[in-house]
Amino acid sequence: MIRKNLSMLEEIIAGICEKCGRDPKEIKLVAVTKTHPEEVIMEAYGEDLRDFGENKVQELVPKMSALPDDIVWHMVGTIQTNKIKDLVGRVNWIHSISKVKYLKELEKRAARVDRVIRVLIQVNISGEDQKSGCEPEQLPEILQYAAGLKHVTVHGFMGMAALTADRDQIRQQFRMLRRLRDEHRKHETETVRLDELSMGMSGDYDIAIEEGATMIRLGTSIFGSRDYNV
Ligand SMILES: *Cc1c(COP(=O)(O)O)cnc(C)c1O
Repeated sequence: MIRKNLSMLEEIIAGICEKCGRDPKEIKLVAVTKTHPEEVIMEAYGEDLRDFGENKVQELVPKMSALPDDIVWHMVGTIQTNKIKDLVGRVNWIHSISKVKYLKELEKRAARVDRVIRVLIQVNISGEDQKSGCEPEQLPEILQYAAGLKHVTVHGFMGMAALTADRDQIRQQFRMLRRLRDEHRKHETETVRLDELSMGMSGDYDIAIEEGATMIRLGTSIFGSRDYNV
């Protein structure tokens, strides 16, 4: 099933890219494996996927230590300060940094293990859940703080659209994230780059690609529906 889903996705993504004049190579597929066991991840690995994402530290950590070293791991879910230490030894990307305090803890912990962690700043574009991302007005402060770090590099923004069937509304929210990215380019430094836009999930990745996504985070459309909601 994974193989069939992936080849379907490849075709759909190629079609969207052709329509909006983008190169499919600009778009990284992050396979979100939450709730799925290691065998399922290995099946996707066998199809040459290497970027995998999880939304909970306690699920990500055992998977990171059990699965092959060449997997690129993405933490995509809400982060907590006291969990950062469990991630830094292995995680490659954190998409969900929304506060200076997380950057501070990440810098401290990553320095201890002599690693550099790639992060995205999560921005609240849906206007809904206050926990999911910073407010746009906080971006300058966060980016300026990040510029002084040595073990954390910023690569762009992440956003989640509202859970709605209103596709125009979703498009407006993705468009806002891209606009915010463009506006904040002036804060770029050697270690703060804003090239990546992580936006789009199984229900809205087509809109996200049209609006400039460079990373799409797909679970259901690769692995099928999850047994229970997480
Ligand atoms: C679960 C999850 C996804 C993937 O969701 P699907 O709708 O199954 O594609 C993407 N991003 C985050 C942050 C998630 O928690």
